[in-house]
Amino acid sequence: MKRFYNFSAGPAILPESVLSEAQNEMMSYKNTGMSVMEMSHRSKDFEEIIEEAKNDIIHLMNIPSNYKVLFLQGGGSTQFAMVPMNLMKNKIADYIITGHWAEKAYEEAKIFGKANIIASSEDLNFDYIPDVSNLNISKDADYVYICENNTIYGTQYKKLPNTKGKILVSDQSSMFLSKVVDVNNYGLIFAGAQKNVGPAGTVIVIIREDLIGEPLPFTPTMLRYNVHAKASSLYNTPPTYGIYICGKVFKWLKEMGGISVIEKLNNEKSKILYDFLDNSKLFKGTVVKEDRSPMNVPFVTGDAALDKKFIEESDSLGFKNLKGHKTVGGMRASIYNACPKKAIEDLVSFMEKFEKENK
Ligand SMILES: *Cc1c(COP(=O)(O)O)cnc(C)c1O
Repeated sequence: MKRFYNFSAGPAILPESVLSEAQNEMMSYKNTGMSVMEMSHRSKDFEEIIEEAKNDIIHLMNIPSNYKVLFLQGGGSTQFAMVPMNLMKNKIADYIITGHWAEKAYEEAKIFGKANIIASSEDLNFDYIPDVSNLNISKDADYVYICENNTIYGTQYKKLPNTKGKILVSDQSSMFLSKVVDVNNYGLIFAGAQKNVGPAGTVIVIIREDLIGEPLPFTPTMLRYNVHAKASSLYNTPPTYGIYICGKVFKWLKEMGGISVIEKLNNEKSKILYDFLDNSKLFKGTVVKEDRSPMNVPFVTGDAALDKKFIEESDSLGFKNLKGHKTVGGMRASIYNACPKKAIEDLVSFMEKFEKENK
């Protein structure tokens, strides 16, 4: 069985050891005689799976005891609505627009109250993170919202905004568990699993307990954090198989030595590609150096026909999903936690060869 190098932005690469463990347990999980997919979410076996996953994530991220970890459904996009529905008590929130996903979240928030744009990098096609050290934060803002790693544009915050005492809400979908973060700096973190930790369909929410209050009236039961927190993510049938795979990814990270170890590796991995881009005469990165993401690396040749040729040739050699998002064009290599260093080294070798052949 051949596996290719997968540079997809999401759903994305998972650790091979996790996939083969899941394969081994497919027909019978721990002698239960059934797959996790076939198991009651109220069973002892599944309760252990979700409990362990929760405890492992708490351990990995060093999550303080006054935060709750929730496993929900509906992907990152449902959080665009759940955040305002549950946190917009004054019906005012401040948004920093650094790309497509921040913009979507902002548009959604406008349904529920007054959403303000307090900074944006749209003027330069989102190729940088705006200065967020002294923003005009609204006096009554319920929270300040960021998309901390911009999957499409390949930028990442290196410093969190100064929220002047307001709660920070962060979409960490495409950087979740890729680097050490201090959870105390956030009121709420959420992440769709399919970028860095598991299959699509699961979303992880980390929320400070005191923010789990009464949502806005008319908030459907399924979109209330208090309902899910009270039921420990088992209010209804949660995405059981997704949680099981996420749990295995957490174990994989723990065995590797935790987040500081994967962070170091991620920096080494992305440096290989960025160093190459900085020295190449053909390829160039599209993002301001200081704001580059170690997770998503967009690059171009500057010639659309040559980009197309590169994508075709790389694909035929087994470098999959390198086509960039249409709003940036060119290429994008998503090099999440599970992407091996060898994949990047081989990609760079091919890029060197392509550059020589296409001078
Ligand atoms: C992919 C992505 C989303 C959307 O996730 P869905 O699960 O498709 O709703 C939101 N935010 C970021 C940063 C993403 O990369």
